Amino acid sequence: MTDPPEGPSTVDLLVVGSGPVGATVARRVRDLVPGASVLVVDAGPAVTGPPGRNVHNLPAADRAEPRHRSAGRYPAVGAGAVTPRFGTGLLRPADPEGDEQDGMPAAALSTCVGGMGGHWTCATPRPGPAERSPFVGSDDLAVAERLLGVRARPYADTAAGTRLLAGLRDALPGQDVGWMPMAGGPGEWGGVDTVLGDLDRQPGFLLRPETLCRRLLLDDGRVVGAELECLRGGRRWVVRSARWPWRPTRSEDRSCCGRRGCDHQPWAGTSTTTWR
Ligand SMILES: Cc1cc2nc3c(=O)[nH]c(=O)nc-3n(C[C@H](O)[C@H](O)[C@H](O)COP(=O)(O)OP(=O)(O)OC[C@H]3O[C@@H](n4cnc5c(N)ncnc54)[C@H](O)[C@@H]3O)c2cc1C
Repeated sequence: MTDPPEGPSTVDLLVVGSGPVGATVARRVRDLVPGASVLVVDAGPAVTGPPGRNVHNLPAADRAEPRHRSAGRYPAVGAGAVTPRFGTGLLRPADPEGDEQDGMPAAALSTCVGGMGGHWTCATPRPGPAERSPFVGSDDLAVAERLLGVRARPYADTAAGTRLLAGLRDALPGQDVGWMPMAGGPGEWGGVDTVLGDLDRQPGFLLRPETLCRRLLLDDGRVVGAELECLRGGRRWVVRSARWPWRPTRSEDRSCCGRRGCDHQPWAGTSTTTWR
């Protein structure tokens, strides 16, 4: 089996994981700093075209294979009758003899370009104050809704939706019954392809499937690189920050996320980055 090319050995931003969060980080940084070189790696394969498209958009008969390929290393049903959702696999197989917490039998995830965003149901109600991380503001939610193509009343114009809503209101008098905001709408399930937009065709941007980030390289407590492994062939290599320490050029002298006082470093973008 031939390895695909490794890609750049230095980049301005490495994003580990191409789920909704990683894709959003990549897209926001490219929108705000168009010249930034961005590498997105995902341990899983690209199971749809365009990359990250919601598998629900495929004809029903064609969904089984991409769902199976997204289930990662442990797609089997675990002990204790834990059944992963379609398109996901267990984080680790449950071991009936072992420590249940260690096995985490209830945790499942997708391993594919788009992450769980390739399989999700697209329900996007705004989180209530108690559900919201303190650093996520209303402006951020508006950006997320725009990137995901959220519609507030996606089925309001369909006969089925109108009938269903009327039926629920009859059945649940006095209850607050309304439309669920959804990413996408009738005929198209939203996915990470919507977030990525045309990034995949832009120079300076590379999305590399089947590439595992094995470890981050630290210098004085800061991430300055990462060891990557091509899962098709097993070759490993290091990718480093193109310009560490970060020295913004004149055109980049605002913060990466457009907020005053942000000291977010371009290299720090991963699925777990905290935006300040
Ligand atoms: C069936 C289903 C229905 C859902 N429905 C909804 C819904 O209606 N509404 C809603 O809000 N949420 C829903 N969710 C949850 C939602 O999809 C997740 O919250 C969201 O996808 C999380 O995004 P993420 O980017 O943080 O992580 P993920 O989507 O999990 O993406 C993480 C990515 O990182 C990759 N990765 C991880 N580690 C590495 C590594 N070391 N190297 C390389 N790559 C790595 C993984 O392969 C994966 O692709 C649903 C989920 C499922 C499975």
